[in-house]
Order: sequence, then C-alpha cells, then structure tokens
Amino acid sequence: MNIFEKIIRREIPATIVYEDSETLAFLDIGPIIKGHTLVIPKTCYESVVGTPDDVLTRLVQVSKRIAAAQIKSLGADGVNIIQNNGTAAGQAVPHIHFHVIPRFDGDGHHWNWNAKKYDSPAEMEKLAAKIREGLAG
Ligand code: AMP
Repeated sequence: MNIFEKIIRREIPATIVYEDSETLAFLDIGPIIKGHTLVIPKTCYESVVGTPDDVLTRLVQVSKRIAAAQIKSLGADGVNIIQNNGTAAGQAVPHIHFHVIPRFDGDGHHWNWNAKKYDSPAEMEKLAAKIREGLAG
C-alpha cells in the first residue's frame, strides 16, 4: 500500500482541504510554496496512462477548484498544476496526483526549465511522425 492510500484510509494524518466520494485533496507535506496541494483519486492508478478518462476529468475539475481557491483565498497571483509520471519524470509516490501550487509575484521559486534546441526541422518532423504513429496505433 502506498502512502496516499494510507492517507485515504486515515491510517496516517493529512491536512485535508477537499473530499468527495472519488477524490481527496490535501496539503503537500513538503510544499514548493506554502499552500501546495495534492489532488488524488481514492482508487489507486499509478500514472496518467492507466487512469480512466472519467477519473482524470474529475481530478482536473477538482484541481481547477483548488487553483481558484488559492487565487481567491490565499491571494495567489498564479498557479502551477503539475503531474509527474514515472520515476524518470520525478514521480515518487506511485498513485496518480496533481500538484496544485499557488504562486506569488516575487515568491523566489524558479523551475529549472532547461529548454533545449532541435538540430533541425527534419529532426522535429521525425519525432512528430513517431508520436502520430503512436496515436494511430
Ligand atoms: P511526486 O514526486 O510527484 O510523486 O510527488 C509526491 C509528493 O508527495 C511530494 O511532493 C511529497 O512532498 C508529497 N508527500 C509525500 N508524503 C506525503 C504525506 N504523508 N503527506 C503529504 N504529502 C506527502
């Protein structure tokens, strides 16, 4: 059982901000910015690829509501919504979750968004063709 399932079962504590029959939202214990909230389904799916569309829809709807509340009640100037899949992508807890992170002008946090460049338009087209192939298959 993963740590989020223990939170769902109330076996370990969490600071819950929202709950419905399918979804739970609680404060991340290690916030990027204070108010950082995690939105999870009560049924465990590991990553976005294996999660049913209706569950994903619900997670996005709840994430939107949390974002709106962070803007309205915390006075956030912006919000990051982030979702990691797989250890290569930085996923530590194998239970799908959306990070909803309130952002404030001058809050001092900077993502290490290290943008690269393609070698050529041909390289871009080759990669796009592979993704299209995956979409068709
Ligand atoms: P990720 O790296 O996308 O899997 O994110 C997992 C997140 O879960 C991290 O930001 C952790 O700080 C958070 N986390 C881990 N354990 C707990 C916990 N017991 N309560 C709240 N958040 C947690």
